[in-house]
Amino acid sequence: MRPDESPSEQKGQPGLVSAALSGLCPRCGAKSLFTAPAALAEQCAQCGLDFRKLERGGRFVGVITMLLALALILAALAVDEWLKPPLWASFLFWGPATVGSVVFGLRFYKTMWVYHQFEESQQP
Ligand SMILES: [Zn+2]
Repeated sequence: MRPDESPSEQKGQPGLVSAALSGLCPRCGAKSLFTAPAALAEQCAQCGLDFRKLERGGRFVGVITMLLALALILAALAVDEWLKPPLWASFLFWGPATVGSVVFGLRFYKTMWVYHQFEESQQP
């Protein structure tokens, strides 16, 4: 099986996951998409692509965060019921796990949105 046949790769673009992880600009591929772990840059430092304009309309970010948090809380409750870990262990694990997944979730969502908007804007 050839590695370039994975379903997440489309039209020769970098995979969305790697784009989200390194914050790649949809036009030039520079690592300029994020200024903070989950905050979009105003525009690309390399090619000047206006990320803010592309991000406009991405109003579901709040909903995504809520759903993610809810899923994590449910997962935490399930693990709690299953393993019955001491309270300190729960906090030690779920604190960073929650922050990590919310940041990654937001990052992934914003990247997906910007890439989608960028593709739309490329249509004649
Ligand atoms: Zn760029």
